[in-house]
Amino acid sequence: MVVVLKQKVRDEEIQALVEQLESYGVKTSIMEGVDCKVIGLLGDTSLINKEEIENNEIVEKVMRVSEPYKKANRKFHPKDSVYQIGGHTIGGKKLAIIAGPCSVESEEQIIEVARLVKKSGAHFLRGGAFKPRSSPYSFQGLGDEGLDLLLKAKAEVGLGIVSELMSIRHLERFERDVDIIQVGARNMQNFDLLKELGKIRKPILLKRGLSNTLEEWLMAAEYIMAGGNEQVILCERGIRTFETFTRNTCDISAVPAIKRLSHLPILVDPSHSAGMRFMVESLSLAAIAAGADGIIVEVHNNPTKALCDGQQSIWPDQFDEIVNKIKAIAPIVGREV
Ligand code: PEP
Ligand code: MN
Repeated sequence: MVVVLKQKVRDEEIQALVEQLESYGVKTSIMEGVDCKVIGLLGDTSLINKEEIENNEIVEKVMRVSEPYKKANRKFHPKDSVYQIGGHTIGGKKLAIIAGPCSVESEEQIIEVARLVKKSGAHFLRGGAFKPRSSPYSFQGLGDEGLDLLLKAKAEVGLGIVSELMSIRHLERFERDVDIIQVGARNMQNFDLLKELGKIRKPILLKRGLSNTLEEWLMAAEYIMAGGNEQVILCERGIRTFETFTRNTCDISAVPAIKRLSHLPILVDPSHSAGMRFMVESLSLAAIAAGADGIIVEVHNNPTKALCDGQQSIWPDQFDEIVNKIKAIAPIVGREV
């Protein structure tokens, strides 16, 4: 962190600021320029409140030169994080494939989709029980009954389950029954929810917010990790741009960027990224080619009748083909399925 001082400040004022900064346990070093002075800070500056320092009368501006996230930062944890979840790994050499409908709709639907995606090679079953719909009049998910049906599918088919938690009210149930708890794009900066998730010991799939930077996303991961729950999986799901043809713009560059900045695994969700079925295959393959640790994709046994996100849900046959193509390109990027 660097603190740039205003012109013509008195030595006593600088001394008082230096003492304030050093009270945070950092070392300071003063550099004298032609017409201003700069204080350089060495050490862990994560506890320093930037606004508080900027409010000091003699301070022109404060700039961070290192990232504010620590636990999610590759600098402090150079090796990739790899999690063992229900007999599968997320991160590392093996790619993770998560598939299933946007929402759980009925017992027949979820069990049929579970069977089909497992046959094609999926490692986990996704399915929304509590849905964050843009309209209050749209199908909101089956709630607790949806979780019951996911558990039934898990027992019958043998796939671990991934489902979105929208409210702290349901945390106990999710902690008990869900293998990977999804935080949706709209809740990426629900800091109360993130703090509560930091207290449990369950893997969290943290989707990137609709308009969030990589740093904001990693800071959201940091919230969970700071509480002691270090099993965070990031998921790029497309961001808002000026383009209106696609539902969102899939930020493939987020994959190599996150790999450089963080040790956390990153998946890509090609379904919400594109919003259209015909793009799901291309984006899935692009994600794997770019170094993603896997995909989470919406598959429905009859997408034309889906109660949610049907236009982007693929048919089971299409999923089967995507998995086969992923198997073919995985070795090129040093991975396997
Ligand atoms: C979903 O996975 O169905 C979902 C709502 O995702 P997102 O939060 O990325 O929109
Ligand atoms: Mn969806």
